[in-house]
Amino acid sequence: YDYIFSPVFDANNEIVAVAGTTRDITEMRQLSEQKDEFLAMASHELKTPVTVIKAYTQIFHRSAQEANDKQAAALSLKMEAQIDKLTSRIAELLDVSRIQGGKLHLQEKHFDFNELIDSVVEEIQRTTQRHQIIRRLTTSKKVFGDQDRIGQVVINLLTNAIKYSPQSDVIYVYTKLVNENQRDRIVFSVEDFGIGIPEADQERIFERFYRVTGGNQNTYPGLGLGLYICSEIIKWHGGTIWLENKKEGGSIFSFSLLLKK
Ligand code: ADP
Repeated sequence: YDYIFSPVFDANNEIVAVAGTTRDITEMRQLSEQKDEFLAMASHELKTPVTVIKAYTQIFHRSAQEANDKQAAALSLKMEAQIDKLTSRIAELLDVSRIQGGKLHLQEKHFDFNELIDSVVEEIQRTTQRHQIIRRLTTSKKVFGDQDRIGQVVINLLTNAIKYSPQSDVIYVYTKLVNENQRDRIVFSVEDFGIGIPEADQERIFERFYRVTGGNQNTYPGLGLGLYICSEIIKWHGGTIWLENKKEGGSIFSFSLLLKK
């Protein structure tokens, strides 16, 4: 049951009573659980054939190369790139269903933060020639958390920065050490000079399925899940994630994590 309390006002706008009602939400909860189960099942079902198709494409690519069939080789690479996109969409759906089901199990350990940033930046830099990712990192610190999951957040923020700055060529990545409420934290930021996010959308940008509409925003593909997943991962680590808009265009996404005591 869901309890709803509402004040009852008299003619002078004074509260004279509080009325309570209850609402049976069993059915609503069951429906939402069914939806979560469906999401989990559907994404698992999609994952298997896509993995198999990817393997076939790789075999196809190899034999095209051996046969010196340039067109087939080029085509199979294009197919692989599309399959990779599909795979990451499915991974997003799986992550959402894990988050919703409270099953985002973190594998936490101490790891070197800059080493993680360096390896992610190098990996992402290889995917783009148009953008240059410039690093400004403080002395490295050890962070306690799930290295892969935090790496996933960094990958996501960087790929968004690239995706939403089609005209610009520089992306800054920096870290800062701050002390807040007597605790040392590391702040990581990605700054781009792209299309930016309208002020009206900023508050909701970390919500599930939320995407900016209007303008030419619809030309960028996506499900609106990436930032939601990022914010959940950071929250599960006890950190915070936020967005700063820049007047001169572009955005800065940052997250902070607690450092070892
Ligand atoms: P999507 O997969 O749709 O990109 P995200 O959750 O990663 O989903 O982002 C949500 C929305 O936030 C995007 O649809 C886009 O409108 C906006 N957005 C995210 N990152 C940026 C950025 N760096 N610059 C401009 N807009 C962005």
